[in-house]
Amino acid sequence: MEINLISDTITKPSREMLVYMLNAVVGDDVYKQDPTVIELEAKVAEIFGMEAGLFFPSGTMANQTAIKLHTQPGEQLIADKYAHVYHYEGGGVSFNSGVSCCLLDGNRGMITAEQVANAINDPEFYHSPMTSLVCVENTTNKGGGACYELEDLQKIKEVCDANNLKFHLDGARIWNALVAKNQNPKDFGKLFDTISVCLSKGLGAPIGSVLLADKATIHRALRIRKILGGGMRQVGYLAAAGLYALENNITRLAEDHRRAKEIAEVLKKVNWVESVEPVETNILIFKLVPNCIEKNLIELLKQKNISISSMGHGKLRIVTHLDYKEVMHTYVLETLLKL
Ligand SMILES: *Cc1c(COP(=O)(O)O)cnc(C)c1O
Repeated sequence: MEINLISDTITKPSREMLVYMLNAVVGDDVYKQDPTVIELEAKVAEIFGMEAGLFFPSGTMANQTAIKLHTQPGEQLIADKYAHVYHYEGGGVSFNSGVSCCLLDGNRGMITAEQVANAINDPEFYHSPMTSLVCVENTTNKGGGACYELEDLQKIKEVCDANNLKFHLDGARIWNALVAKNQNPKDFGKLFDTISVCLSKGLGAPIGSVLLADKATIHRALRIRKILGGGMRQVGYLAAAGLYALENNITRLAEDHRRAKEIAEVLKKVNWVESVEPVETNILIFKLVPNCIEKNLIELLKQKNISISSMGHGKLRIVTHLDYKEVMHTYVLETLLKL
């Protein structure tokens, strides 16, 4: 029994998902003739109460398209210091959009309206880059799966409106937030100019993200996606995996959250762990006591068929997911306790 807790991206499509994919009706999506892709785009848009959606091969491409949509070269975006768009998208912010990042010292990857307001450059002060976009992440990745209160996002939105800034949500794990906080996706649709969501994280699809916006913005996004090489042909087979995931794999995310919390409880009891960050969703970050070396712990667990990842600076990360089943969970809890 191999237990992989490195990420929720490691899930493999189930037999049921594969059968659903196999039965998809497809066409050439570059000509907008793939009915399954069109169905997926419309469905995700409807969930969030937004006008239109566009299917992407990755969350990175969806985020990068959003940044390109909302900025001009030389401008600046505001994000948390842990932001995925800054850390884990290969420098695409500068490569694709010629934009710099003003990084805020948020709490577990979450920023406040006050921090945003203080970070906006005076548009009349032409020495500084023009601030044009705010990006938030929900749930936060490097922030340990933390999720925003809707009111806090509402306040950031007010600052954006007052200062003529666009507002983008990197919602790679928005599904986890919706389940954990019992929030209504339509409330998110009202707040943001663009939202990107992933189907390939907790939802268990092998690939796929959707970018949401109003119709005119999605029309512009189509050209950017094409430029980035993201125009795909009979991709309804992959969109079908997303449709299956939306239908079957959202409410069960609560199980992933429960298991992550139960692992956290065990880690709080053992003497080799110094601290465990609060667990809200499926990501758990913990810190080892100073004389315990990350690499050694990872190796020790590996020998017991459990894989987890290092975040550097003595921190480690565990992510629960669809393919992490109850039998594995029981074994992991016992193993950690006995280690
Ligand atoms: C995974 C992730 C993305 C997108 O990643 P891809 O691997 O390109 O699909 C974007 N933002 C966050 C916060 C993520 O965790």
